[in-house]
Amino acid sequence: MAKFPDYKDIYVFVEQKNGEPAEVGYELISEARKLVSTIPNMDYKVVGVLLGDNVKDKAEEVIAHGADKVIIVDDPLLKDYSTQFYADALTQIIKEFKPDSFLTGATVLGRDLAPRVAARINAGLTADATKIDIDQDKVADGEALLLVTRPTFGGNLFGTIVCPDTRPQMATIRPKVFDMAPIDETRTGEIIEFKPEWESTTPQVEIMETVAKALEGVDITKANILVGVGRGAEHSIETIKECAKELGGEVCATRAVVEDGFMDKDVQVGQTGKTVRPSLYIACGISGAVQHVAGMEKSDMIIAINRDPEAEIFKIANMGFVGNVDEVLPLLVEEIKKAKAA
Ligand SMILES: Cc1cc2nc3c(=O)[nH]c(=O)nc-3n(C[C@H](O)[C@H](O)[C@H](O)COP(=O)(O)OP(=O)(O)OC[C@H]3O[C@@H](n4cnc5c(N)ncnc54)[C@H](O)[C@@H]3O)c2cc1C
Repeated sequence: MAKFPDYKDIYVFVEQKNGEPAEVGYELISEARKLVSTIPNMDYKVVGVLLGDNVKDKAEEVIAHGADKVIIVDDPLLKDYSTQFYADALTQIIKEFKPDSFLTGATVLGRDLAPRVAARINAGLTADATKIDIDQDKVADGEALLLVTRPTFGGNLFGTIVCPDTRPQMATIRPKVFDMAPIDETRTGEIIEFKPEWESTTPQVEIMETVAKALEGVDITKANILVGVGRGAEHSIETIKECAKELGGEVCATRAVVEDGFMDKDVQVGQTGKTVRPSLYIACGISGAVQHVAGMEKSDMIIAINRDPEAEIFKIANMGFVGNVDEVLPLLVEEIKKAKAA
C-alpha cells in the first residue's frame, strides 16, 4: 500500500512577472517530464501552477512547454508578487489538489514563497537544489520519493535530501541547471481555473512605488558569451570589457572581485551568485574554486587564462592559456578584431 495514496503528480510553480513566465518554470517542467518518464507505471502528470492577473492566455504556453495540466489563479490581487496573496493561493491549491511533489525556482520570489507555504502545510522543503531524481527502489512500493541534491558545507560537498514523511515534497531549484525542452505547440492539456477564498483582501504590505534597479548591460544569465573577471584580472577590467564588447558578450565576475568592490553583485557567478550557461565563457584570472565553478561549469566552451598551470579552472576548461592576463588578453582581443575585420 502506497504511503501517501491521495498525493500524486509533480507540480511546478511557473513564476511570472508582468505576465511573462520566467524561464526557470519551463526548465523545471522539462525536468519534471524526464522524472515522470522514469516512473511510467505510476501515471504521474506534470502540472504547471500559474498565479497572476490576466495570465489566462499563458496557459497554452505552459502546456506547450511540457505541462499536462495547468492550474491558474487569475486575480487582480496577484498582479504584483505579494507573499501574503501568493502564499494564500498556493496553500489552498496544494490542499485541494494534493501534489506529490512541488517544485519552484530558487529565485528571489521562489525563495520567499516556497518556505512560507511549506511551513503552513507542514511539508519538507529542500532549498537551492541543483539536481533531482526519483528513488527507483521505492517505486515498487508505490512511492515517487524525490532525491533532491544541493551543495552543502560551502559548496565543497553535495547532500541529497529526502522528505519521506510529509507531502508534498517541496524543493526550490536553481535557474539554469536544467535544459528547457523545445516548445511543442501541438501539445494539448487541461486548464483548471481555481478561485481561492482569500482570508483577507487587505494587503498587509502596501507597495508605494517600484523602482527598477538600473542594470549595466544585460542579465548575465541570458548572455550567450561571458568574459569572467577573477581576482587575478582585477587590473585588466577595461580590456575584459573590450573583449566582451568585441565578442558581443557581457562581463561577469567571481565573488572575490565583487567583494573587492570592482564589480556589482548582479554579475557574480557561482553558488551565492547566478548560474550561467553561455556558449562561451572566458575565465580571466579565476582560480576555479568549487563555489564559482558551480555557477558556470555547464557553459558549452570554457577558455581559461591563468598564470598558474596548476589552477583548478584548467580542469574544467576546454582550452587554456597559461600566462599573465595583461599579456594574453590584449593579444586575444587583437585576434578577435582581426577575425572580425577579415
Ligand atoms: C559559502 C561560500 C560561497 C561562495 N560563493 C561564491 C560564488 O558564488 N562565486 C564565486 O566566484 N566565489 C564564491 N565563493 C568564493 C570562492 O571560494 C573563491 O574564494 C572565489 O571564487 C575566488 O575568486 P577568484 O578565482 O577570483 O580569486 P582567487 O582564488 O584569488 O584566484 C585568482 C587566480 O588568478 C590567478 N592570477 C593572479 N594574477 C594573475 C595574472 N596576472 N594573470 C593570470 N592569472 C592570474 C591566480 O593564479 C589565481 O588562480 C564562495 C565561498 C564560500 C565559502
